[in-house]
Amino acid sequence: MTIKELEPKELWSNFYSLTRQPRPSKHEEKVRAFLVDWAKKNKIGCRVDAIGNVILTKPATKGMENREPVVLQAHMDMVPQARAGKKHNFETDPIETKIVDGWVYACDTTLGADDGMGVAAIMAVFASKTVEHGPLEALITTDEETGMTGAFGLKKGELNGRYLLNLDSETEGELYVGCAGGLDANLTIPYQTEKAPRGMVAYRLTIGGLRGGHSGMEINTGRANANKLLFRHLRWVAECGIRLISIEGGNMRNAIPRDAEAVLAFPKEHEECILKEFDKVASWVKKELGAVEPDFRIAYEKVRMTPTVITEADTQKIINLMLVAPNGVIRMSKDMEGLVETSLNLSIVKTTASKNFVLKALLRSSVDSAKEVLGERLVCLAELCGGKCQLTGAYSGWKPNMESQLLQTMKQTYKKLYKKEPVVTAIHAGLECGILGSKYPEMEMISFGPTLQNPHSPDERCNIESAKKFYDYLVAALKAIPVKK
Ligand SMILES: [Zn+2]
Repeated sequence: MTIKELEPKELWSNFYSLTRQPRPSKHEEKVRAFLVDWAKKNKIGCRVDAIGNVILTKPATKGMENREPVVLQAHMDMVPQARAGKKHNFETDPIETKIVDGWVYACDTTLGADDGMGVAAIMAVFASKTVEHGPLEALITTDEETGMTGAFGLKKGELNGRYLLNLDSETEGELYVGCAGGLDANLTIPYQTEKAPRGMVAYRLTIGGLRGGHSGMEINTGRANANKLLFRHLRWVAECGIRLISIEGGNMRNAIPRDAEAVLAFPKEHEECILKEFDKVASWVKKELGAVEPDFRIAYEKVRMTPTVITEADTQKIINLMLVAPNGVIRMSKDMEGLVETSLNLSIVKTTASKNFVLKALLRSSVDSAKEVLGERLVCLAELCGGKCQLTGAYSGWKPNMESQLLQTMKQTYKKLYKKEPVVTAIHAGLECGILGSKYPEMEMISFGPTLQNPHSPDERCNIESAKKFYDYLVAALKAIPVKK
């Protein structure tokens, strides 16, 4: 059996066609041309906007002309990941699929059900002669996965819908009504170096064994930040005449840092005492973190002394900055139990050849003003340290609207169809809805999808039963959309 024969056929046959179209992010030409061609063959209104999004239009079916107009939304690109040893060219090769125990997998690559299932559902609805719906549009965005380029580039006034159904979330039975926006903070603190005083020894102190994880989705798990822990150890010996030589920690802005290291110098007579202090702090940290970070460890080794070191005053300044800098969850949401509203991750620290201490952080919030004030805190902190902080790459969050008419309709429809309440939730990470909502503030939005596991990895899989439930629900929801106010 191939996936083309799975039910509902109109969904899976379209998904199958998409697996034949190479579509890694930033190389969407082929899938875009395929969609335009498909629309033409099916006599569906279709245009490509300036950034490369595909926009479809379809008039209401008979008797449904007075319903609120709806936009269906999904993204055309996929994350290209293959298992080590697998030869696969994502720009030319189709994705091969297999069915195992109720799940569809690819053969050692990402499957692209994120968000190929969303696009396939749109194709099925637009080509259908039987699905009932009001005035319909579809927005199939380009390059969601590596920068949400399509959502950012969409012009105001391009869409006329009142409600937007985003088909890009990953658990059937869950309705997403909110997401976080983001902001990058880049602190640069200049420092002076000087000739190393006599009688010093140098050590490398390393923090490791931490679990890391997604800087949004996993920021409230209590996992430790290696950069923060490194400076906690340094602070405990800051009175012993220590001098920093170099710092390096973390490597990705959207990951909680797992490793960090400092090379530092101190007077030889304090050697024993300082190493003891490191062990003492590490034992406290180990106790505090317990089961959350079972593999946390520190290591120190003597290294060659360098001719220059960072001055004592600037060493203190950098350590103090890192102790004071906020990190982790700043506030939980008032609108939704258990949802993080605002957070930040002190992602990357390093000393540079141009004698700057650089700190890069990623701030997230579902409330734009809360994210902005957190950015200002970092600007103030940098200024207090005689440096500066640039705030870049801001994008909007999506604040949950529990009063939304669309949400009421979607909840009722789900309950009628499946005899149980859907879970209404939000995510502390970026979704296209945040960006789209900032351009179309009057639009009410919901995100849902079939159950996908391990997206963005070769273990990606799509649950077959959930795909049917997802599609049936979409069809029922379109029929239930209320009359225009
Ligand atoms: Zn996606």
